[in-house]
Amino acid sequence: MKKLLFATNNTKKVEELRAKLPQYNIITLSDHNIHEDIPETSDTLEGNALQKATYIHEKYGLDCFADDTGLEIEALNGEPGVYSARYAGIDRNANANMNLVLEKLQGFNNKNAKFKTVIALIKNGTTSLFEGTVKGKIINEKRGVNGFGYDPIFIPNGYKKTFAELDLSVKNTISHRALAVDKLVSFLE
Ligand code: IMP
Repeated sequence: MKKLLFATNNTKKVEELRAKLPQYNIITLSDHNIHEDIPETSDTLEGNALQKATYIHEKYGLDCFADDTGLEIEALNGEPGVYSARYAGIDRNANANMNLVLEKLQGFNNKNAKFKTVIALIKNGTTSLFEGTVKGKIINEKRGVNGFGYDPIFIPNGYKKTFAELDLSVKNTISHRALAVDKLVSFLE
């Protein structure tokens, strides 16, 4: 089976990728005994995805891919965007982040939002970027227990359930990350 190193410490992202790509052996940083926090200091998703993949490649000499994701809310001028992880503070608390979004959106009728993922792949000396976007709406309360991050407050267009209420198999077909991964796989194959 072909091996792919996913440069992340996020076990939920790894779970999604393993379910989506049974034909690949997705290994993680902990399989290489790498447990450090990877820097992500860019002000773009592309920059952060590249920074994470490049850091692991340069420091450990490993081919890998990394992803960076942001939730962009129209009424908040694209916030939290690239700052999604630390929107409510440096401890990256998903509940606090969602509460802040719900608070800031109070009084707005426009609930349009989108998730965007950028994947950076470094393989055989070449760097490639793949992007995926899913449009939807932010609801007024949290619903569902699946997924992670902002999933409980996001309903993708064409559905009635949040990403946290939908089965992983559905999220894994239509999500921002799923669409970016589809492009990654087409490139690899
Ligand atoms: P990062 O890509 O790990 O930097 O994630 C940025 C922020 O977006 C974090 O708060 C994540 O929890 C959140 N996030 C990333 N991917 C998803 C997703 O698929 N659904 C909901 N939130 C996500």
